[in-house]
Amino acid sequence: MAARPAPYLDDLNPAQRAAVEALDGPVLMLAGAGTGKTKALTARIVHLMTTGRARPNEVLAVTFTNKAAREMKLRIGRMLGEAVEGMPWLGTFHAICVKLLRRHAELVGLKSNFTILDTDDQLRLLKQLVQAANIDDKRWPARQLAGVIDHWKNRAWTPDKVPVAEASAYNNRGTELYDQYQRRLRELNAVDFGDLLLHMVTIFQTHQDVLEQYQRWFKYILVDEYQDTNVAQYLWLRLLAGGHKNICCVGDDDQSIYGWRGAEVGNILRFEKDFPGAKVVRLEQNYRSTPHILAAASGVIRGNEGRLGKELWTEAEEGEKVRLIGHWDGDEEARWVGEEIEALQRGTRGLERFSLDDMAILVRASHQMRAFEDRFLTIGLPYRVIGGPRFYERLEIRDAMAYFRLACSPSDDLAFERIVNTPKRGLGDKAQQKIQMAARAHGVSLLEGARILLQEQGLGGKGAAQLRRFIEQMDRWSAIAGLQASNPLVLDEDAVLVDDSRPEAPISHVELAEVMLDESGYTEMWQNDKTPEAPGRLENLKELVKALENFENLQGFLEHVSLIMDNESDEVEAKVSVMTLHAAKGLEFPVVFLPGWEDGLFPSQRSMDESGLKGLEEERRLAYVGITRAEKLCTISFAGNRRVFGQWQSQLPSRFIDELPEAHVDVLTPPGLYGGGYGAAGSVQSGLESRAAEANVYNSPGWKRMQTRTAQRPVSQPRESRAMTIDVTATASHVIGERVFHQKFGYGEVIGVEGDKLEIAFEKSGVKKVVAKFVTSPDD
Ligand code: ATP
Ligand code: MG
Repeated sequence: MAARPAPYLDDLNPAQRAAVEALDGPVLMLAGAGTGKTKALTARIVHLMTTGRARPNEVLAVTFTNKAAREMKLRIGRMLGEAVEGMPWLGTFHAICVKLLRRHAELVGLKSNFTILDTDDQLRLLKQLVQAANIDDKRWPARQLAGVIDHWKNRAWTPDKVPVAEASAYNNRGTELYDQYQRRLRELNAVDFGDLLLHMVTIFQTHQDVLEQYQRWFKYILVDEYQDTNVAQYLWLRLLAGGHKNICCVGDDDQSIYGWRGAEVGNILRFEKDFPGAKVVRLEQNYRSTPHILAAASGVIRGNEGRLGKELWTEAEEGEKVRLIGHWDGDEEARWVGEEIEALQRGTRGLERFSLDDMAILVRASHQMRAFEDRFLTIGLPYRVIGGPRFYERLEIRDAMAYFRLACSPSDDLAFERIVNTPKRGLGDKAQQKIQMAARAHGVSLLEGARILLQEQGLGGKGAAQLRRFIEQMDRWSAIAGLQASNPLVLDEDAVLVDDSRPEAPISHVELAEVMLDESGYTEMWQNDKTPEAPGRLENLKELVKALENFENLQGFLEHVSLIMDNESDEVEAKVSVMTLHAAKGLEFPVVFLPGWEDGLFPSQRSMDESGLKGLEEERRLAYVGITRAEKLCTISFAGNRRVFGQWQSQLPSRFIDELPEAHVDVLTPPGLYGGGYGAAGSVQSGLESRAAEANVYNSPGWKRMQTRTAQRPVSQPRESRAMTIDVTATASHVIGERVFHQKFGYGEVIGVEGDKLEIAFEKSGVKKVVAKFVTSPDD
């Protein structure tokens, strides 16, 4: 066996091989995407074991996600064959720290069987503390405190180490409550996620003997995605590697995308200082992507300052250029992507056939997934969401849907339980038990049980008043939902007639949904929430309301969603992957779609509003991560219109699109929607054929922004053929008193002009402010 050359070494290029074979001392592999860092790291683990340098459990390897850990284990298993028995310590920081902490729990006042709180438990605990401290948790939500504490834990600050500069956090009470929280956790024999690392760092810092034991034990340490470690993780590693310094870190400063969660790209840049004499290996050959894809990614990332700067090259064949396409709106984008996926699967794009497993859609914000999930369900395209729940499984979506469900079917007890005290109505466990008992005693639903309980005056205090209000609201909403439900058909001898004696619902189901979320205080609950997730949850709620527009009533929508949820087919089937750009780190797919490249979405509004370039540069790195996931075909798209805050808003293509080097980009023609009006969607011609016609457009100065400004007129079509497109110049010409037509709200009269927005009194929908480009003269 010893005589056989090691195949895992033959697979490597000389630079990779050097990194694998330099077993002793610190090694830093700092290289761009797809250069085989992870591959080399994996080979190094195998090499350590097969050469007998270390027994498997003397090797500690850290990955960024559980998925990455699983994949690495599989690869190692395959490479090792039967050569070595056992596996290294391989997992995420958290997974490894749980194991270690169980052994030493008593050193931080815990028992080894401590429980790990999930976010909900954590929040409940914090709320109790906040209330006990007489803090108005409306003004100072417990979630905000959770965010503060998390931030401190990421920096490895125990309560006594929180710097004075942070004293004002959470209304000056942050440090004190943090201390109480940690005590309470200890009493409960519990930890939260952040504690796993924090406690281990504390133990290593205060118990030299324990630290030395592990320094001797873990002879070799390896870390993937080092650019995204936070301070606590960094300290933990530095302590562990402090003895032998056999630490090998791999990463890419251009792919640091977790700054918002406390990651410090500085950690990777400081490696040579922390570990003097480190061997630094640079890899430049990319094995993943075609030259066009690489050039596009390099073109974008060049816009960042203060990079180490790495040039990548590849021997791969030139392949397809990066494709760029603009769409009318987000639904149109999703429809097009669905069709492209099917075409690529059939092999009708002049390329090889791709399996659904080969294809991925990478979005900037999770709310973007909804349009794709709905579309894929409609056309029966199997998909999986990676690294997070599917859209309709998200907490806020399930809550909101429980409101819709209860309004449509008042006996839906599960829905009732979910929302009766969400947002808080002072109806805690005790009150809910009483409701349950009343319902059981009378053999009725919980909602009815609650009504009876109130009548029997079985509930006192604030809770009673709030419950009464909740029931009244629900009754009102149910009545409206009932009017919106499909009109019952009345059978009259041989004819089927519609019962038109029924009054019309006062508002649409979309409006009803908004009303429910607003009046119930649910939206407000998230508006007051200061955690980093809250804005995303609000976005998701808006996206949910938007999804309702495609249905006739709430009932129809709920049925649609239950179908989606039921659609979980077995895992052996090939599926398109849908995930956020963050979740895509380290992964690769032959075909990648990058939708929603619009200013305000990607880069995010927050990063654009921020002073300084930090946020924007992190977004740009995210763009780089996105493009470099693609092996053969990368398609970037943007929509001209999106509904933001319930209003259609025109979108500008992302500034990152301007940064794509044009020699490596093909501009596709948007589907032929516009020539024949909206209904002509069936006559979609794929843009691929019309590339040639597009070429000169791309060269014209400022074409990209023009393209959206002039709405979604396919640039290759003569202007006269427009149906619903509006010339930019027309915007200025609208005058007060003019009769106009809006595609959504119908006819109306202009009553105000303000920049590119018009105030219009619509005949059917009242006064609204709309973007001028959606407005045409009726005779246009
Ligand atoms: P990222 O920065 O995106 O995490 P990476 O540097 O970790 O990328 P890998 O995922 O290890 O890159 O490798 C990218 C692809 O290139 C993989 O498919 C891998 O198998 C292949 N690859 C890496 N090195 C070689 C090599 N020397 N010969 C052939 N293929 C290679
Ligand atoms: Mg990698």
